[in-house]
Amino acid sequence: MADLLIKNALIIPMTEERKFFNGYVRARDGVIAEVAESSAREVAQSEQIIDAHGCVLMPGLVNAHTHLYQVLLRAVWEDLELMPWLKRIYGCARVLRPEHFYAGSLLGCAESIRSGVTTICEHNFLNPTPECAFETLRAMRESGLRSVFARTIMDTGEIVPECTKEKPETAFRRIENLLARHAGADKLSFMTGPNTPPINTTPGLLKEIRRFAADKSLGISAHVAESKSVVECVRREHGKNGVVEFLQQFGIPAANSIFAHSVHVSPDEIRMLQETGASVSHNPVSNMMLGDGVAPVVEMLRAGVNVALGTDGAASNHSQDLFDTMKAASLLQKVHHQDAGVIRPYDVLRMATLGGAKALGLEALCGTIEAGKRADLILVNLHTLHNQPINDLASQIVHCAKAGDVQTVIVNGELLMRDGALTRHDEKQLLADAGEANRDLMKRVAALAF
Ligand SMILES: [Zn+2]
Repeated sequence: MADLLIKNALIIPMTEERKFFNGYVRARDGVIAEVAESSAREVAQSEQIIDAHGCVLMPGLVNAHTHLYQVLLRAVWEDLELMPWLKRIYGCARVLRPEHFYAGSLLGCAESIRSGVTTICEHNFLNPTPECAFETLRAMRESGLRSVFARTIMDTGEIVPECTKEKPETAFRRIENLLARHAGADKLSFMTGPNTPPINTTPGLLKEIRRFAADKSLGISAHVAESKSVVECVRREHGKNGVVEFLQQFGIPAANSIFAHSVHVSPDEIRMLQETGASVSHNPVSNMMLGDGVAPVVEMLRAGVNVALGTDGAASNHSQDLFDTMKAASLLQKVHHQDAGVIRPYDVLRMATLGGAKALGLEALCGTIEAGKRADLILVNLHTLHNQPINDLASQIVHCAKAGDVQTVIVNGELLMRDGALTRHDEKQLLADAGEANRDLMKRVAALAF
């Protein structure tokens, strides 16, 4: 790995609001060694120099919740609300094969890199065979992204195919196998969790997951209160007012828990999230696409809940573009509250960087530009018609910049994209492989009855 000197950059370190400056960043052995205002005086012979003139240098974005293989299911079943849509997504498990997970996940990772993502959390929930998780992980590792693999479990539910229901001991054995096979792997960490409680997890499984996660020091990722129908289910079948309240009795909300969506949560539940230190992954594009509702993001931020941003899978987004997601997150709160000032651009940027890192237990490694953290950095070209002139940098990153403006992406000091060219992937080959996987999957899906 080359030592890097990124010079002539407009730096947004994300360490404090309104702190932007011109300067340079040095990285050695994948770690940020120096961040400074001014121009670099000396250049070491071993250093690879990147001239960032015209670009913003900021922490790489963190996509805190997605399902990578779903790029193969873009714009399929897009007119359905959550439950009938989920029935089809789950039903796919009957025909999904490991090669679909690999080809889809690789395309999803490459798309993520192009949109400035350096850390990605895969909420893995369909495992008709153990190889499916391994193939997703293979793609994530080949991409070079910092990766969190949240291997979740389901054990019940009318719409859940038998091939994806697991007894806790079987699931835990499979997860232990994943952990053992990736012990010491660079840039990779694991989580576990119930997929969408309580519609596909029994109380018994929730108890077991809490015990297993604590035993293995794993964080918990779960879909929480995504739609009204999930809350109605928890009221009807478990006599609780909401999903967070239901999960509280099992000790599931905790400092290393990340709850995707959290759309239908009460003020009491927001307080529970704050008190337990649980994070939320806000996925506005997916929530809008499925007609779920509007997450109380402003209320959560005001209460001190850590909020991250996620795209969710491309089957309900339909992209992996976190710039789109930032803009949607901002605009959705403004229109929902009918108040243009209700959320600040810097809050949105923070959700997409440090908020995500914190939610995934990675804030010591990434999320800001500071000496000692890993060099997970992106250069965004602002010298374009739609970005100029600059009047408010944070607002313009959120509301003007586009994924296509991302010029260079660095993870752990390694260039994954340089001047718009992916370094690890042949895009033509990626497209051909994903196209083939898509044709095969669609053929198999067409034969299914839902
Ligand atoms: Zn999801």
